[in-house]
Order: sequence, then C-alpha cells, then structure tokens
Amino acid sequence: MNQLWHDTHHLNHNGLPLEQMSWHMAHQKNCGCTPIPPHIQRIMPSGRSAS
Ligand SMILES: [Zn+2]
Repeated sequence: MNQLWHDTHHLNHNGLPLEQMSWHMAHQKNCGCTPIPPHIQRIMPSGRSAS
C-alpha cells in the first residue's frame, strides 16, 4: 500500500462519480491496494466490465 499517495489523495465518497472514477484510475496506477468497485468500472471509458 502506497501510504504516501493515500495521504495526499483522499477519495471523496460524496463526490461526483467522475471524480471518484479519476481517483480510482490514479489509485490503480500509484497504489492499487483495493480493486476498482463495479459501480466505478461501469462508468470507465475503458469498459473493463463491458461484457
Ligand atoms: Zn491504495
């Protein structure tokens, strides 16, 4: 777990879905301690869960 990254990047659970999506995309690149939740994957343009 990249604690330094987490300390400087806080996920706003009450934020817009797009804000949460960009947080998770950055998180996957810099840490990835938790998977991207399905409701976020659904709105990602890469379409990870398209099928
Ligand atoms: Zn993490």
